[in-house]
Amino acid sequence: MEPLLLTPGPLTTAPETRAAMARDWGSRDPRFVALVGRVCAALEGLVEDARYAAVPLQGSGTFAVESMIGSLVPPEGKLLVCVNGAYGKRMVAIAGRLGRSVEALEHAEIEPVDVARLEACLAQDPTVTHVAVVHCETTTGLLNPIEEVARVVQAQGRALLIDAMSALGALPLRGQDVAFEAVAGSANKCLEGVPGLAFVLATEAALGASEGYAHSVSLDLHAQWARLCKDGQFRFTPPTHVLAALDAALAQHASDGGVAGRGARYEDNRRCLVEGLRALGLQTLLPDALQAPIIVTVLSPPDRRWDFGEVYAALVDRGFAIYPGKLTEMDTFRVGCIGQVYASDIERFLSALGQILDERGVVDRAPRAPWEGA
Ligand SMILES: *Cc1c(COP(=O)(O)O)cnc(C)c1O
Repeated sequence: MEPLLLTPGPLTTAPETRAAMARDWGSRDPRFVALVGRVCAALEGLVEDARYAAVPLQGSGTFAVESMIGSLVPPEGKLLVCVNGAYGKRMVAIAGRLGRSVEALEHAEIEPVDVARLEACLAQDPTVTHVAVVHCETTTGLLNPIEEVARVVQAQGRALLIDAMSALGALPLRGQDVAFEAVAGSANKCLEGVPGLAFVLATEAALGASEGYAHSVSLDLHAQWARLCKDGQFRFTPPTHVLAALDAALAQHASDGGVAGRGARYEDNRRCLVEGLRALGLQTLLPDALQAPIIVTVLSPPDRRWDFGEVYAALVDRGFAIYPGKLTEMDTFRVGCIGQVYASDIERFLSALGQILDERGVVDRAPRAPWEGA
């Protein structure tokens, strides 16, 4: 038995999703072209706004982020990135590598984006054309105040690019409520597809205006969009099996109640997980008010009998794969709430973890959380 993946993706998928890959498709076959059209329409449905077009791209999520930045920020533009974790930092690195003018608005890893600071920064620098923000910072599991960020960016007359990789499909992001130009997502997170496909949802106005901006042929969002508009096809070999799996996963997403239904199940998982971890004497990194229902960061027990590698292996023996921490300053580990995971699975995981901690004699379990004060 393969372990249940309690990770930020790739995730444990449904049998129907995996079964959809047991077939070879001709990429120019009209039935496959229809499948691509169906996938794009379902992706567009996630933002509930007809102004946005979905542009799928081969690759992992970072490919879509790189394509979004390189294709929508004009060569003479300037990007301001709100940073409170590794994925914000990655956008700064991408923009820099592409030769775009870029600045970082740095925050601590446990601090949500400070909209007052963002507003002051924009007011003071009229050369910034675009702002980028991560919806759920998967580094910690922190939820950024996306609606407030969008309001400030819009009021200042700039365009907003969102990395909603670990949120899209489970946390609402309606074009009517959040003024954004584009959002990057991937098949293998809250949509519960398999890895190999990413996408950008962008306004047709922004896509239409972006011809010639891209730094790269294969990551040229405008060219990919234009080809899909022309004949519904990818420019280069599409990941056919991955698209077929996503088509199946999106059908389940709809029958699970769409974004609201998916988000409610993950929220159930989160509540069960956080309560259970605390009952075991463990401490979460974030206060509940900042915690997204995607992935939970746990402070590693200070007890010297705690060893992440050994606990990881013991959990795999019992059917669960957790995830290492990614914080720069603190020793942590992470447990995901997303994928084909239900509260009953979380209960089983908690009981396995409790047994392992007891067996190993990890008694000193909870350091003080950074938000608890002295
Ligand atoms: C997963 C993720 C990405 C993309 O990571 P890949 O490894 O390229 O798929 C980007 N941003 C966030 C916030 C993510 O969670």
